[in-house]
Amino acid sequence: MTIRKKILLFSALALGAFLAAVYFASRFALLNGFARLENDHARQSVRHLQNGLQNEQASLEIVARDYAQWDRTYDYMESRNPEYVRTELTDAAFNIIHIHFFALLDRSGKVILQKSGEKWSLGAGDLVAIATARPSSKRSGNSRDSGQNGVVELNGRVVLLAYQEILTSRGNGVSRGTLVMGRELDQKLILAISRSAGLPVWLEPPDQSPGRNLQAAWSDGTNSVALEGESTMLGYVPIKDMSGATLRLLVARIPSDLHSEGKKVMRYLLLLLMLAGVVHCGVLLLVLEENLLSRLATLNRRIKQITVSGDLSLRLELSGEDELGGLAGAVNAMLAAMQKAKSELLQAQESLRFHAEHDSLTGILNRRAIRDVLRRELARCRRESNTLGVIVADVDHFKKINDHYGHGAGDAALVAVVQRISATLRPYDVIGRYGGEEFLILAPGCDLQLTQKLAERIRAAVCDEVIDLGNDSTTVTVSLGATLGTAESDPEFLVTMADAAMYQAKRNGRNRAETNLELPNQEQLEASTATH
Ligand code: GH3
Ligand code: MG
Ligand code: MG
Repeated sequence: MTIRKKILLFSALALGAFLAAVYFASRFALLNGFARLENDHARQSVRHLQNGLQNEQASLEIVARDYAQWDRTYDYMESRNPEYVRTELTDAAFNIIHIHFFALLDRSGKVILQKSGEKWSLGAGDLVAIATARPSSKRSGNSRDSGQNGVVELNGRVVLLAYQEILTSRGNGVSRGTLVMGRELDQKLILAISRSAGLPVWLEPPDQSPGRNLQAAWSDGTNSVALEGESTMLGYVPIKDMSGATLRLLVARIPSDLHSEGKKVMRYLLLLLMLAGVVHCGVLLLVLEENLLSRLATLNRRIKQITVSGDLSLRLELSGEDELGGLAGAVNAMLAAMQKAKSELLQAQESLRFHAEHDSLTGILNRRAIRDVLRRELARCRRESNTLGVIVADVDHFKKINDHYGHGAGDAALVAVVQRISATLRPYDVIGRYGGEEFLILAPGCDLQLTQKLAERIRAAVCDEVIDLGNDSTTVTVSLGATLGTAESDPEFLVTMADAAMYQAKRNGRNRAETNLELPNQEQLEASTATH
Protein backbone atom coordinates (compact mmCIF):
# COMPACT_ATOMS: atom_id res chain seq x y z
CA MET A 1 0.00 0.00 0.00
CA THR A 2 1.39 3.44 -0.89
CA ILE A 3 2.04 6.07 1.79
CA ARG A 4 -0.64 8.23 0.15
CA LYS A 5 -3.26 5.49 0.56
CA LYS A 6 -2.12 4.78 4.12
CA ILE A 7 -2.43 8.46 5.07
CA LEU A 8 -5.93 8.59 3.55
CA LEU A 9 -7.02 5.38 5.26
CA PHE A 10 -5.63 6.22 8.70
CA SER A 11 -6.91 9.82 8.52
CA ALA A 12 -10.41 8.55 7.68
CA LEU A 13 -10.24 5.99 10.49
CA ALA A 14 -8.95 8.55 13.01
CA LEU A 15 -11.61 11.08 11.97
CA GLY A 16 -14.35 8.45 12.22
CA ALA A 17 -13.15 7.33 15.65
CA PHE A 18 -12.92 10.95 16.83
CA LEU A 19 -16.43 11.79 15.60
CA ALA A 20 -17.82 8.59 17.15
CA ALA A 21 -16.15 9.46 20.47
CA VAL A 22 -17.58 13.01 20.32
CA TYR A 23 -21.01 11.63 19.41
CA PHE A 24 -21.12 9.08 22.22
CA ALA A 25 -19.64 11.48 24.78
CA SER A 26 -22.19 14.17 23.94
CA ARG A 27 -25.04 11.70 23.66
CA PHE A 28 -24.45 9.89 26.90
CA ALA A 29 -22.93 12.64 29.00
CA LEU A 30 -24.23 15.93 27.62
CA LEU A 31 -27.70 14.94 26.40
CA ASN A 32 -28.35 12.77 29.44
CA GLY A 33 -27.31 15.75 31.57
CA PHE A 34 -29.74 17.93 29.62
CA ALA A 35 -32.49 15.35 30.08
CA ARG A 36 -31.77 15.24 33.85
CA LEU A 37 -31.91 19.03 34.05
CA GLU A 38 -35.22 19.03 32.19
CA ASN A 39 -36.67 16.40 34.51
CA ASP A 40 -35.56 18.41 37.54
CA HIS A 41 -37.11 21.50 36.00
CA ALA A 42 -40.35 19.58 35.31
CA ARG A 43 -40.46 18.29 38.91
CA GLN A 44 -39.99 21.82 40.22
CA SER A 45 -42.69 23.12 37.91
CA VAL A 46 -45.14 20.48 39.15
CA ARG A 47 -44.25 21.40 42.72
CA HIS A 48 -44.93 25.08 41.92
CA LEU A 49 -48.27 24.04 40.49
CA GLN A 50 -49.10 22.06 43.60
CA ASN A 51 -47.94 24.93 45.82
CA GLY A 52 -50.11 27.34 43.80
CA LEU A 53 -53.16 25.21 44.49
CA GLN A 54 -52.25 24.79 48.14
CA ASN A 55 -51.71 28.55 48.50
CA GLU A 56 -55.19 29.18 47.16
CA GLN A 57 -56.59 26.70 49.66
CA ALA A 58 -54.51 28.25 52.43
CA SER A 59 -55.77 31.75 51.63
CA LEU A 60 -59.35 30.42 51.66
CA GLU A 61 -58.65 28.83 55.03
CA ILE A 62 -57.35 32.14 56.43
CA VAL A 63 -60.47 33.99 55.31
CA ALA A 64 -62.68 31.22 56.72
CA ARG A 65 -60.84 31.38 60.07
CA ASP A 66 -61.22 35.17 60.17
CA TYR A 67 -64.98 34.81 59.83
CA ALA A 68 -65.30 31.72 62.06
CA GLN A 69 -63.33 33.24 64.93
CA TRP A 70 -65.19 36.54 64.92
CA ASP A 71 -67.54 37.59 67.67
CA ARG A 72 -70.21 38.72 65.22
CA THR A 73 -70.39 35.23 63.67
CA TYR A 74 -70.27 33.73 67.15
CA ASP A 75 -73.18 35.93 68.25
CA TYR A 76 -75.11 35.15 65.09
CA MET A 77 -75.09 31.48 65.99
CA GLU A 78 -77.05 32.44 69.15
CA SER A 79 -79.02 35.46 68.07
CA ARG A 80 -79.65 34.64 64.39
CA ASN A 81 -79.56 38.39 63.86
CA PRO A 82 -80.45 39.06 60.21
CA GLU A 83 -78.36 42.20 60.39
CA TYR A 84 -75.26 40.00 60.25
CA VAL A 85 -76.34 38.49 56.95
CA ARG A 86 -77.33 41.81 55.48
CA THR A 87 -74.16 43.70 56.33
CA GLU A 88 -71.43 41.07 56.31
CA LEU A 89 -72.48 38.58 53.66
CA THR A 90 -72.97 40.94 50.75
CA ASP A 91 -72.00 40.13 47.13
CA ALA A 92 -69.32 42.82 47.36
CA ALA A 93 -67.82 41.08 50.41
CA PHE A 94 -67.92 37.75 48.49
CA ASN A 95 -66.01 39.38 45.61
CA ILE A 96 -63.45 40.95 47.91
CA ILE A 97 -62.66 37.73 49.75
CA HIS A 98 -63.00 35.65 46.56
CA ILE A 99 -65.60 33.12 47.74
CA HIS A 100 -68.62 31.69 46.00
CA PHE A 101 -70.63 30.43 48.94
CA PHE A 102 -70.82 30.67 52.67
CA ALA A 103 -72.62 28.34 55.15
CA LEU A 104 -72.99 28.02 58.90
CA LEU A 105 -73.70 24.63 60.44
CA ASP A 106 -74.80 24.14 64.01
CA ARG A 107 -73.09 21.68 66.26
CA SER A 108 -75.28 18.85 65.01
CA GLY A 109 -74.21 19.63 61.39
CA LYS A 110 -77.53 21.16 60.41
CA VAL A 111 -77.33 24.09 58.00
CA ILE A 112 -78.60 27.19 59.72
CA LEU A 113 -77.39 29.70 57.16
CA GLN A 114 -76.19 29.41 53.61
CA LYS A 115 -75.46 32.11 51.06
CA SER A 116 -74.19 31.79 47.49
CA GLY A 117 -72.48 34.38 45.34
CA GLU A 118 -73.78 35.71 42.07
CA LYS A 119 -74.63 33.08 39.44
CA TRP A 120 -74.39 30.48 42.10
CA SER A 121 -77.20 28.45 43.52
CA LEU A 122 -76.94 25.43 45.75
CA GLY A 123 -79.57 22.76 46.03
CA ALA A 124 -80.43 20.90 49.21
CA GLY A 125 -78.40 17.93 47.98
CA ASP A 126 -75.36 20.15 47.54
CA LEU A 127 -75.66 21.43 51.10
CA VAL A 128 -75.89 17.90 52.42
CA ALA A 129 -72.83 16.99 50.34
CA ILE A 130 -70.92 19.96 51.80
CA ALA A 131 -72.06 19.17 55.34
CA THR A 132 -71.16 15.53 55.06
CA ALA A 133 -67.95 15.98 53.07
CA ARG A 134 -66.10 16.81 56.24
CA PRO A 135 -64.91 13.67 58.06
CA SER A 136 -66.98 13.03 61.22
CA SER A 137 -64.02 12.76 63.61
CA LYS A 138 -63.16 16.38 63.01
CA ARG A 139 -66.70 17.59 63.17
CA SER A 140 -67.26 16.24 66.68
CA GLY A 141 -63.85 17.19 68.02
CA ASN A 142 -63.26 19.96 70.54
CA SER A 143 -60.05 21.27 69.11
CA ARG A 144 -59.96 25.04 69.18
CA ASP A 145 -57.94 25.51 66.01
CA SER A 146 -59.48 22.73 64.14
CA GLY A 147 -60.07 23.63 60.52
CA GLN A 148 -60.12 21.52 57.44
CA ASN A 149 -59.71 22.06 53.77
CA GLY A 150 -61.10 19.96 51.03
CA VAL A 151 -62.42 19.79 47.54
CA VAL A 152 -65.84 18.68 46.34
CA GLU A 153 -67.57 18.51 43.02
CA LEU A 154 -70.91 20.27 42.92
CA ASN A 155 -72.97 20.24 39.76
CA GLY A 156 -69.89 19.57 37.68
CA ARG A 157 -67.97 22.39 39.38
CA VAL A 158 -64.84 21.74 41.39
CA VAL A 159 -65.01 23.72 44.63
CA LEU A 160 -62.34 24.37 47.24
CA LEU A 161 -63.81 24.18 50.74
CA ALA A 162 -62.59 25.45 54.09
CA TYR A 163 -64.26 24.30 57.35
CA GLN A 164 -63.63 26.23 60.56
CA GLU A 165 -65.02 25.85 64.09
CA ILE A 166 -67.06 28.90 65.12
CA LEU A 167 -65.34 30.45 68.12
CA THR A 168 -65.00 33.86 69.73
CA SER A 169 -62.64 36.47 68.25
CA ARG A 170 -60.03 35.31 70.71
CA GLY A 171 -60.34 31.84 69.36
CA ASN A 172 -61.88 30.42 72.53
CA GLY A 173 -65.32 29.68 73.91
CA VAL A 174 -67.46 26.67 73.23
CA SER A 175 -67.73 25.92 69.54
CA ARG A 176 -71.12 26.98 68.27
CA GLY A 177 -70.86 25.11 65.00
CA THR A 178 -68.88 25.08 61.78
CA LEU A 179 -68.35 27.76 59.18
CA VAL A 180 -67.90 26.57 55.60
CA MET A 181 -66.55 28.69 52.79
CA GLY A 182 -66.28 27.56 49.21
CA ARG A 183 -64.46 28.86 46.19
CA GLU A 184 -64.93 27.43 42.75
CA LEU A 185 -61.80 26.34 40.88
CA ASP A 186 -62.89 28.52 37.97
CA GLN A 187 -60.93 30.09 35.12
CA LYS A 188 -60.00 33.06 37.26
CA LEU A 189 -58.51 30.86 39.94
CA ILE A 190 -56.73 28.70 37.38
CA LEU A 191 -55.30 31.89 35.83
CA ALA A 192 -53.99 32.91 39.26
CA ILE A 193 -52.35 29.52 39.74
CA SER A 194 -50.96 29.75 36.19
CA ARG A 195 -49.46 33.15 36.99
CA SER A 196 -47.89 32.01 40.22
CA ALA A 197 -46.42 28.88 38.53
CA GLY A 198 -45.39 30.85 35.43
CA LEU A 199 -46.85 28.16 33.15
CA PRO A 200 -49.99 27.70 31.07
CA VAL A 201 -52.40 25.72 33.29
CA TRP A 202 -55.79 24.08 32.69
CA LEU A 203 -58.05 21.37 34.07
CA GLU A 204 -58.58 17.97 32.56
CA PRO A 205 -60.87 15.09 33.48
CA PRO A 206 -59.37 12.51 35.81
CA ASP A 207 -59.21 9.78 33.18
CA GLN A 208 -56.67 11.84 31.21
CA SER A 209 -53.80 10.28 33.16
CA PRO A 210 -50.34 10.74 31.65
CA GLY A 211 -49.71 7.08 30.84
CA ARG A 212 -52.73 6.93 28.60
CA ASN A 213 -51.71 8.85 25.48
CA LEU A 214 -48.33 10.16 26.41
CA GLN A 215 -45.12 8.62 27.60
CA ALA A 216 -44.71 9.14 31.37
CA ALA A 217 -41.34 10.70 32.18
CA TRP A 218 -41.57 10.86 35.92
CA SER A 219 -44.05 10.22 38.75
CA ASP A 220 -43.89 10.44 42.55
CA GLY A 221 -47.03 8.38 43.04
CA THR A 222 -49.30 11.44 43.07
CA ASN A 223 -47.95 13.98 40.65
CA SER A 224 -46.47 13.03 37.32
CA VAL A 225 -44.80 14.41 34.22
CA ALA A 226 -45.23 13.17 30.67
CA LEU A 227 -43.46 14.01 27.43
CA GLU A 228 -45.81 15.86 25.12
CA GLY A 229 -43.53 16.45 22.16
CA GLU A 230 -39.94 17.28 21.23
CA SER A 231 -39.87 20.46 23.25
CA THR A 232 -42.73 20.32 25.79
CA MET A 233 -43.77 18.23 28.76
CA LEU A 234 -47.05 18.09 30.65
CA GLY A 235 -47.11 18.19 34.46
CA TYR A 236 -50.14 16.60 36.17
CA VAL A 237 -51.34 17.42 39.70
CA PRO A 238 -54.45 15.45 40.71
CA ILE A 239 -57.21 17.32 42.54
CA LYS A 240 -58.79 14.92 45.01
CA ASP A 241 -61.89 15.19 47.12
CA MET A 242 -61.86 14.43 50.80
CA SER A 243 -62.52 10.74 50.25
CA GLY A 244 -59.39 10.59 48.07
CA ALA A 245 -61.16 10.25 44.71
CA THR A 246 -59.56 12.24 41.90
CA LEU A 247 -61.95 14.87 40.59
CA ARG A 248 -59.79 16.64 38.05
CA LEU A 249 -56.20 16.89 36.87
CA LEU A 250 -54.51 20.24 37.06
CA VAL A 251 -52.28 20.24 33.99
CA ALA A 252 -49.38 22.57 33.15
CA ARG A 253 -47.38 22.72 29.95
CA ILE A 254 -43.67 22.79 30.81
CA PRO A 255 -41.17 23.82 28.14
CA SER A 256 -38.41 21.25 27.63
CA ASP A 257 -36.45 22.43 24.62
CA LEU A 258 -33.05 22.03 26.29
CA HIS A 259 -32.73 18.41 25.17
CA SER A 260 -33.97 18.97 21.62
CA GLU A 261 -31.88 22.14 21.28
CA GLY A 262 -28.89 20.21 22.62
CA LYS A 263 -29.51 17.50 20.00
CA LYS A 264 -29.67 20.08 17.25
CA VAL A 265 -26.49 21.80 18.43
CA MET A 266 -24.79 18.42 18.67
CA ARG A 267 -25.74 17.59 15.08
CA TYR A 268 -24.32 20.93 13.87
CA LEU A 269 -21.23 20.40 15.98
CA LEU A 270 -20.64 16.92 14.53
CA LEU A 271 -21.15 18.28 11.01
CA LEU A 272 -18.71 21.11 11.69
CA LEU A 273 -16.17 18.73 13.20
CA MET A 274 -16.53 16.42 10.21
CA LEU A 275 -15.99 19.33 7.81
CA ALA A 276 -13.01 20.52 9.84
CA GLY A 277 -11.62 16.97 9.82
CA VAL A 278 -12.05 16.61 6.05
CA VAL A 279 -10.43 20.01 5.44
CA HIS A 280 -7.62 19.12 7.83
CA CYS A 281 -7.01 15.78 6.06
CA GLY A 282 -7.11 17.49 2.65
CA VAL A 283 -4.61 20.15 3.65
CA LEU A 284 -2.40 17.54 5.30
CA LEU A 285 -2.41 15.40 2.17
CA LEU A 286 -1.70 18.43 -0.03
CA VAL A 287 1.26 19.50 2.12
CA LEU A 288 2.56 15.94 2.27
CA GLU A 289 2.11 15.52 -1.49
CA GLU A 290 4.00 18.74 -2.18
CA ASN A 291 6.78 18.28 0.36
CA LEU A 292 7.18 14.55 0.66
CA LEU A 293 5.36 12.18 -1.67
CA SER A 294 6.16 13.74 -5.07
CA ARG A 295 9.77 14.37 -4.03
CA LEU A 296 10.06 10.81 -2.74
CA ALA A 297 8.81 9.53 -6.11
CA THR A 298 11.43 11.68 -7.91
CA LEU A 299 14.14 10.40 -5.57
CA ASN A 300 13.05 6.81 -6.10
CA ARG A 301 13.01 7.24 -9.91
CA ARG A 302 16.47 8.80 -9.95
CA ILE A 303 18.00 6.12 -7.69
CA LYS A 304 16.54 3.41 -9.98
CA GLN A 305 18.09 5.19 -13.02
CA ILE A 306 21.51 5.24 -11.32
CA THR A 307 21.19 1.59 -10.25
CA VAL A 308 20.22 0.44 -13.76
CA SER A 309 22.95 2.50 -15.50
CA GLY A 310 25.60 1.59 -12.90
CA ASP A 311 27.07 5.07 -13.47
CA LEU A 312 28.30 6.18 -10.07
CA SER A 313 29.17 9.64 -11.37
CA LEU A 314 25.45 10.52 -11.56
CA ARG A 315 24.00 12.53 -8.66
CA LEU A 316 20.52 13.15 -7.20
CA GLU A 317 19.12 16.62 -7.76
CA LEU A 318 16.62 17.40 -4.99
CA SER A 319 15.97 20.96 -3.85
CA GLY A 320 15.09 21.92 -0.29
CA GLU A 321 17.00 21.97 2.96
CA ASP A 322 14.71 19.63 4.85
CA GLU A 323 15.07 15.95 5.78
CA LEU A 324 14.58 14.80 2.18
CA GLY A 325 17.17 17.30 0.96
CA GLY A 326 19.46 15.87 3.65
CA LEU A 327 18.70 12.33 2.50
CA ALA A 328 19.53 13.23 -1.12
CA GLY A 329 22.78 14.81 0.10
CA ALA A 330 23.61 11.66 2.07
CA VAL A 331 22.86 9.44 -0.96
CA ASN A 332 25.07 11.71 -3.11
CA ALA A 333 27.86 11.44 -0.54
CA MET A 334 27.41 7.66 -0.57
CA LEU A 335 27.56 7.61 -4.38
CA ALA A 336 30.76 9.70 -4.29
CA ALA A 337 32.29 7.34 -1.72
CA MET A 338 31.25 4.33 -3.82
CA GLN A 339 32.70 5.94 -6.94
CA LYS A 340 36.00 6.60 -5.15
CA ALA A 341 36.10 3.08 -3.71
CA LYS A 342 35.37 1.63 -7.14
CA SER A 343 38.17 3.60 -8.81
CA GLU A 344 40.57 2.61 -5.98
CA LEU A 345 39.51 -0.98 -6.44
CA LEU A 346 40.14 -0.78 -10.18
CA GLN A 347 43.56 0.78 -9.54
CA ALA A 348 44.38 -1.94 -7.02
CA GLN A 349 43.22 -4.56 -9.51
CA GLU A 350 45.36 -2.99 -12.20
CA SER A 351 48.36 -2.81 -9.89
CA LEU A 352 47.79 -6.42 -8.84
CA ARG A 353 47.61 -7.53 -12.44
CA PHE A 354 50.82 -5.54 -13.25
CA HIS A 355 52.69 -7.06 -10.32
CA ALA A 356 51.45 -10.51 -11.21
CA GLU A 357 52.95 -10.12 -14.70
CA HIS A 358 55.97 -7.88 -14.13
CA ASP A 359 59.26 -8.18 -12.36
CA SER A 360 59.42 -5.82 -9.39
CA LEU A 361 63.11 -4.88 -9.85
CA THR A 362 63.36 -4.19 -13.56
CA GLY A 363 59.68 -3.58 -14.42
CA ILE A 364 59.78 -5.95 -17.43
CA LEU A 365 57.57 -9.06 -17.82
CA ASN A 366 58.30 -11.89 -15.38
CA ARG A 367 59.02 -15.51 -16.33
CA ARG A 368 55.37 -16.62 -16.38
CA ALA A 369 54.21 -13.60 -18.42
CA ILE A 370 57.01 -13.80 -21.02
CA ARG A 371 56.23 -17.52 -21.47
CA ASP A 372 52.58 -16.55 -22.10
CA VAL A 373 53.72 -14.02 -24.70
CA LEU A 374 55.92 -16.68 -26.30
CA ARG A 375 52.91 -19.04 -26.58
CA ARG A 376 50.78 -16.26 -28.01
CA GLU A 377 53.41 -15.20 -30.54
CA LEU A 378 53.93 -18.80 -31.70
CA ALA A 379 50.15 -19.08 -32.15
CA ARG A 380 50.28 -15.94 -34.25
CA CYS A 381 53.15 -17.47 -36.28
CA ARG A 382 50.84 -20.40 -36.97
CA ARG A 383 48.02 -18.06 -37.99
CA GLU A 384 50.17 -15.73 -40.09
CA SER A 385 52.81 -18.28 -41.27
CA ASN A 386 55.44 -16.07 -39.78
CA THR A 387 58.65 -16.63 -37.79
CA LEU A 388 59.63 -15.48 -34.33
CA GLY A 389 63.12 -14.51 -33.22
CA VAL A 390 63.92 -15.96 -29.79
CA ILE A 391 66.99 -14.79 -27.83
CA VAL A 392 68.21 -15.78 -24.38
CA ALA A 393 70.66 -13.30 -22.75
CA ASP A 394 72.65 -14.05 -19.59
CA VAL A 395 74.90 -11.56 -17.75
CA ASP A 396 78.49 -12.78 -17.65
CA HIS A 397 80.14 -13.33 -14.28
CA PHE A 398 77.38 -11.50 -12.50
CA LYS A 399 78.20 -13.23 -9.24
CA LYS A 400 81.46 -11.35 -9.23
CA ILE A 401 79.67 -7.98 -9.49
CA ASN A 402 77.56 -8.91 -6.49
CA ASP A 403 80.56 -10.10 -4.60
CA HIS A 404 82.65 -7.07 -5.49
CA TYR A 405 80.19 -4.17 -5.34
CA GLY A 406 77.44 -5.60 -3.19
CA HIS A 407 73.92 -6.87 -3.91
CA GLY A 408 72.46 -3.36 -4.27
CA ALA A 409 75.01 -2.49 -6.96
CA GLY A 410 74.17 -5.82 -8.60
CA ASP A 411 70.50 -4.79 -8.72
CA ALA A 412 71.42 -1.43 -10.24
CA ALA A 413 73.56 -3.18 -12.84
CA LEU A 414 70.66 -5.49 -13.71
CA VAL A 415 68.32 -2.51 -14.19
CA ALA A 416 70.91 -0.80 -16.40
CA VAL A 417 71.33 -3.96 -18.51
CA VAL A 418 67.55 -4.18 -18.99
CA GLN A 419 67.39 -0.50 -20.01
CA ARG A 420 70.13 -0.98 -22.58
CA ILE A 421 68.56 -4.13 -24.04
CA SER A 422 65.09 -2.45 -24.13
CA ALA A 423 66.55 0.57 -25.94
CA THR A 424 67.76 -1.65 -28.77
CA LEU A 425 64.40 -3.37 -29.26
CA ARG A 426 61.68 -2.39 -31.71
CA PRO A 427 58.35 -1.32 -30.21
CA TYR A 428 56.78 -4.67 -30.90
CA ASP A 429 59.69 -6.76 -29.51
CA VAL A 430 59.20 -8.03 -25.97
CA ILE A 431 61.66 -8.68 -23.15
CA GLY A 432 61.06 -10.71 -19.98
CA ARG A 433 63.15 -11.74 -16.97
CA TYR A 434 63.49 -15.46 -17.36
CA GLY A 435 65.79 -16.17 -14.40
CA GLY A 436 68.05 -14.25 -11.92
CA GLU A 437 70.28 -12.52 -14.52
CA GLU A 438 68.86 -14.24 -17.56
CA PHE A 439 66.41 -12.56 -20.00
CA LEU A 440 64.22 -13.86 -22.83
CA ILE A 441 63.74 -11.56 -25.83
CA LEU A 442 61.06 -12.22 -28.45
CA ALA A 443 61.21 -10.50 -31.83
CA PRO A 444 58.02 -11.19 -33.84
CA GLY A 445 58.39 -11.31 -37.64
CA CYS A 446 62.21 -11.71 -37.53
CA ASP A 447 63.92 -14.36 -39.58
CA LEU A 448 67.12 -15.99 -38.36
CA GLN A 449 69.37 -13.36 -39.87
CA LEU A 450 67.50 -10.47 -38.30
CA THR A 451 67.41 -12.33 -34.98
CA GLN A 452 71.17 -12.78 -35.09
CA LYS A 453 71.61 -9.07 -35.89
CA LEU A 454 69.37 -8.16 -32.99
CA ALA A 455 71.38 -10.42 -30.65
CA GLU A 456 74.54 -8.75 -31.79
CA ARG A 457 73.05 -5.30 -31.31
CA ILE A 458 72.03 -6.23 -27.76
CA ARG A 459 75.45 -7.55 -26.92
CA ALA A 460 77.09 -4.40 -28.20
CA ALA A 461 74.63 -2.08 -26.41
CA VAL A 462 75.23 -3.76 -23.04
CA CYS A 463 79.01 -3.71 -23.11
CA ASP A 464 79.37 -0.44 -24.98
CA GLU A 465 79.58 1.83 -21.96
CA VAL A 466 80.44 1.46 -18.33
CA ILE A 467 77.62 1.17 -15.88
CA ASP A 468 77.45 3.82 -13.17
CA LEU A 469 77.06 2.17 -9.75
CA GLY A 470 77.05 5.35 -7.63
CA ASN A 471 80.51 5.41 -6.08
CA ASP A 472 81.83 2.90 -8.60
CA SER A 473 81.35 1.98 -12.17
CA THR A 474 81.83 -1.28 -14.07
CA THR A 475 81.54 -2.85 -17.44
CA VAL A 476 79.02 -5.62 -17.97
CA THR A 477 78.78 -8.11 -20.81
CA VAL A 478 76.11 -10.58 -21.82
CA SER A 479 76.22 -13.92 -23.66
CA LEU A 480 73.32 -14.52 -26.02
CA GLY A 481 71.77 -17.58 -27.65
CA ALA A 482 69.45 -17.09 -30.62
CA THR A 483 67.03 -19.40 -32.37
CA LEU A 484 64.02 -19.10 -34.70
CA GLY A 485 60.45 -20.03 -33.78
CA THR A 486 58.16 -21.24 -36.55
CA ALA A 487 54.53 -22.38 -36.83
CA GLU A 488 55.54 -25.87 -35.63
CA SER A 489 57.78 -24.84 -32.71
CA ASP A 490 57.17 -25.99 -29.16
CA PRO A 491 57.69 -23.08 -26.73
CA GLU A 492 59.62 -25.06 -24.12
CA PHE A 493 61.83 -26.63 -26.70
CA LEU A 494 62.45 -23.28 -28.35
CA VAL A 495 63.72 -21.77 -25.09
CA THR A 496 65.87 -24.87 -24.50
CA MET A 497 67.43 -24.39 -27.92
CA ALA A 498 68.15 -20.72 -27.31
CA ASP A 499 69.49 -21.56 -23.87
CA ALA A 500 71.80 -24.16 -25.41
CA ALA A 501 73.07 -21.55 -27.86
CA MET A 502 73.66 -19.13 -24.96
CA TYR A 503 75.72 -21.80 -23.15
CA GLN A 504 77.64 -22.34 -26.32
CA ALA A 505 78.44 -18.59 -26.27
CA LYS A 506 79.61 -18.93 -22.65
CA ARG A 507 81.80 -21.79 -23.60
CA ASN A 508 83.16 -19.90 -26.56
CA GLY A 509 84.40 -17.08 -24.32
CA ARG A 510 81.33 -15.04 -23.28
CA ASN A 511 80.29 -11.55 -24.55
CA ARG A 512 79.11 -13.11 -27.79
CA ALA A 513 76.02 -14.44 -29.52
CA GLU A 514 75.52 -17.96 -30.86
CA THR A 515 72.73 -19.46 -32.93
CA ASN A 516 71.14 -22.87 -32.57
CA LEU A 517 68.74 -24.35 -35.07
CA GLU A 518 69.55 -28.00 -34.52
CA LEU A 519 68.09 -30.27 -31.94
CA PRO A 520 70.14 -29.90 -28.80
CA ASN A 521 72.26 -32.91 -27.88
CA GLN A 522 71.87 -34.71 -24.55
CA GLU A 523 74.66 -32.70 -22.94
CA GLN A 524 73.11 -29.38 -23.91
CA LEU A 525 69.71 -30.52 -22.64
CA GLU A 526 71.15 -31.51 -19.25
CA ALA A 527 72.96 -28.19 -18.98
CA SER A 528 69.80 -26.35 -19.83
CA THR A 529 67.75 -28.32 -17.26
CA ALA A 530 70.38 -27.73 -14.60
CA THR A 531 70.21 -23.96 -15.05
CA HIS A 532 66.39 -23.85 -14.79
P1 GH3 B 1 78.26 -16.95 -15.78
O1 GH3 B 1 79.05 -16.01 -16.60
O2 GH3 B 1 78.69 -18.35 -15.97
O3 GH3 B 1 76.83 -16.78 -15.98
O4 GH3 B 1 78.62 -16.57 -14.29
P2 GH3 B 1 77.64 -16.00 -13.29
O5 GH3 B 1 78.38 -15.55 -12.08
O6 GH3 B 1 76.87 -14.87 -13.94
O7 GH3 B 1 76.65 -17.12 -12.99
P3 GH3 B 1 76.12 -17.77 -11.63
O8 GH3 B 1 74.98 -18.65 -11.98
O9 GH3 B 1 77.28 -18.45 -11.00
O10 GH3 B 1 75.76 -16.58 -10.76
C1 GH3 B 1 74.58 -15.82 -10.92
C2 GH3 B 1 74.44 -14.86 -9.83
O11 GH3 B 1 73.50 -13.85 -10.04
C3 GH3 B 1 74.11 -15.53 -8.55
C4 GH3 B 1 73.06 -14.64 -7.92
O12 GH3 B 1 73.40 -14.28 -6.61
C5 GH3 B 1 73.04 -13.45 -8.79
N1 GH3 B 1 71.74 -12.94 -8.87
C6 GH3 B 1 70.63 -13.54 -9.36
N2 GH3 B 1 69.53 -12.71 -9.29
C7 GH3 B 1 69.98 -11.53 -8.73
C8 GH3 B 1 69.38 -10.30 -8.41
O13 GH3 B 1 68.21 -10.11 -8.64
N3 GH3 B 1 70.14 -9.32 -7.89
C9 GH3 B 1 71.46 -9.48 -7.62
N4 GH3 B 1 72.18 -8.47 -7.10
N5 GH3 B 1 72.06 -10.63 -7.90
C10 GH3 B 1 71.35 -11.66 -8.46
MG1 MG C 1 75.54 -15.30 -15.60
MG1 MG D 1 72.68 -17.35 -15.24
